[in-house]
Amino acid sequence: MLKKTNILIVCMLIFFVGFSCDSTSSSSGETLPENPTETDTDAEDPSPNPPASGTMVSLHGQLRVEGTNIVDKNNEVVQLRGMSLFWSQWMGQYYTSEVVSWLKSDWQCTVVRAAMGVEDFDGYITNPDREKQKVFTIIDAAIEQGIYVIVDWHSHHAEDYEEEAKAFFTEVAQKYGNQPNIIYELYNEPLDVSWNTVLKRYHEAVLAEIRKYDPDNIVVCGTRNWSQEVDEVVGNKINDTNVAYTMHYYAATHKQELRAKAQVALDNNLALFVTEYGTTDYSGDGFIDVNESNTWWEFLDDNNISWCNWSVADKEENSAILKPNASSSGQWPDSDITTSGLLVREQLRSKNPKFE
Ligand code: MG
Repeated sequence: MLKKTNILIVCMLIFFVGFSCDSTSSSSGETLPENPTETDTDAEDPSPNPPASGTMVSLHGQLRVEGTNIVDKNNEVVQLRGMSLFWSQWMGQYYTSEVVSWLKSDWQCTVVRAAMGVEDFDGYITNPDREKQKVFTIIDAAIEQGIYVIVDWHSHHAEDYEEEAKAFFTEVAQKYGNQPNIIYELYNEPLDVSWNTVLKRYHEAVLAEIRKYDPDNIVVCGTRNWSQEVDEVVGNKINDTNVAYTMHYYAATHKQELRAKAQVALDNNLALFVTEYGTTDYSGDGFIDVNESNTWWEFLDDNNISWCNWSVADKEENSAILKPNASSSGQWPDSDITTSGLLVREQLRSKNPKFE
């Protein structure tokens, strides 16, 4: 009885002291710094983007989806920003470890996307080993550089190649599923096929194969109409906790109407991932819409939505970041970078953490 009384007194004292401290700060009407000692440390380095030690992946580790966000191993929200490579069968020269190294060190990408062409001319369906090796080169380089990598089944008709997709992603999951770097993208841009009857079933069938070997890495699922109708997932989402939904835009074509659809998805607690976007019109060419690109970047930042820009290519179209014949080993001087490339590089370098 005496012991219980002592415990009660101690508890009351703790409560009283805690309450007193709290009430002092709030009744004073002043906002006290959360940790006053941090002020001194911050004052030593005025740079908004100082080099961080380690790598992006050593810092953040295994990612997962929580609500509308991607969070890291410490449950802190992460927003990845980086570059998508072009169709592997048409821009294979940029599927090199040197390009990944340069995208990490100079462009400060925290993610890259390997866009493996599937059914289109000379893609994976006709040359599986050759195209797969290009993707493995990018994955190995991303692991080496400590950045995240999206493995993209770059198709517009993936429901017609489901068995091939299962075999490919099974191999990736077996080989790399224990690495925190990997993000699976099962279907780049479906056309006008139903989410409810075609796409959801396809995604769940391929996902089930991945989950046999990799229980936890994030999977990104394409949505109807070139990965734009993300609101159609509401009420019928994929039965897996680590799934985000693909949203693509091209800034000179897709504007507030598409952001409104994204907002519907977010309001319904779906996570979105912009695995591809352009500063141009929907063709990947045409007008570079700087104002609308800025509106989009603000929207993505406001909602912690990760992104990859389309694309690492020297094709003569305005969304490509490189001018014709730019090196396949990185080390690109400004004179080799296009108008869109310079815009995107500035976004990456001003917003992403810098790693030594
Ligand atoms: Mg895993």
